[in-house]
Amino acid sequence: PHQPKPTYKIACIGGDGIGPEVISAGVEVLRAICASPRCGFDLEFHEYDWSSDRYLRTGRYIPDDDDDLEGRKDQGLNSLKEKDAILFGSVGTPSVPDHISLWGLRLSICQPLQMYANVRPSKILPGISSPLSGVTVGDLDWLIIRENSEGEYSGHGGRSHLGQDHEVATEVSIFTRSSLLRIMRFAFSQASLRPRKLLTVVTKSNAQRNGMVLWDQVASEVSTEFPDVRWDRMLVDAMTVRMVRDPASLDTIVATNLHADILSDLAAALSGSIGIAPTANLDPTRRNPSMFEPIHGSATDIVGKGLANPVGTFWSSAMMLDWLGETRASQLLLQAIRHCCQEVNVKTPDVGGSSTTGQVTQAMIRYITSND
Ligand code: ATP
Ligand code: MG
Repeated sequence: PHQPKPTYKIACIGGDGIGPEVISAGVEVLRAICASPRCGFDLEFHEYDWSSDRYLRTGRYIPDDDDDLEGRKDQGLNSLKEKDAILFGSVGTPSVPDHISLWGLRLSICQPLQMYANVRPSKILPGISSPLSGVTVGDLDWLIIRENSEGEYSGHGGRSHLGQDHEVATEVSIFTRSSLLRIMRFAFSQASLRPRKLLTVVTKSNAQRNGMVLWDQVASEVSTEFPDVRWDRMLVDAMTVRMVRDPASLDTIVATNLHADILSDLAAALSGSIGIAPTANLDPTRRNPSMFEPIHGSATDIVGKGLANPVGTFWSSAMMLDWLGETRASQLLLQAIRHCCQEVNVKTPDVGGSSTTGQVTQAMIRYITSND
């Protein structure tokens, strides 16, 4: 019997800086993927103008669902809830303090939509070299899992205004058993799906004696549910040394919101460039759409010059297709990335090439259309 093609609704939020450039490159490549007879689905793209420009114009990054926008309501967060996935560029601009823009847009999407697991693969792609000498493809293949809902980025804390000489500011890290259980179960199950079944649990439990000790305890409890996973513990400071000195000893890594934020930038740099690294903000319960984005920021120094590496967005798009269950399409997209980086050597300057964003995008599309 003839099955209708599934159509996935994708929200596209370009955001600031090079965000819109890499997202439009991603959409072009995804359109080529849908057109391939190998992939039996359609994507429907919905563009959002949520950005710092919008904030400077209207005072809001995300409109209220009650606002009447051109005769339509429910154009805020509610409109994201009915999408199948979100493709996000970046947020941040010199004219808005970073803590306003980050909370105004990115965290205001991830937190209410319960995307509690942030997943960041790092691996050296063929044709891309690592700044670590002697480390090549296969020596560095990590999956970093970041707790994405609480910890150091809980948003709790404040500043007392007792006069300038006595000012005190607190930044409260919150760790709840229920959130730790869900992130540890997620991390152990991800580790168990990978060939090496190896998980490193990162903390700072020697110095931070409440939350981090609970983190260690919950890890140990959850480990008994996954007898096939080998696991070890590392303090975050020693972890940075191990990532540089012995990258092949690591596989899956789970860390707090702050620690994993830092470790994954290090991981991205060690794997070649922050321009290629992808990330997924997942709601593993699938009650809400998940959000996929390159890990790099708005890179305002290279806006509009054709220098933005779109590979981070392509790789994030491949993760999105995989999450939607479109494994073949996801594989095709990853093959196209390998083809550009290695065989035809079409790369942007940040990874040693001399091609533009547009040239890399066109090379991807040529590969996809010639391999269907
Ligand atoms: P944000 O505040 O938005 O996080 P940032 O100032 O931290 O931005 P990033 O955008 O993360 O900076 O990147 C740091 C530098 O790396 C940029 O200034 C840019 O030169 C380079 N860079 C980042 N992303 C890319 C990319 N996709 N392609 C090429 N170079 C990039
Ligand atoms: Mg940054």
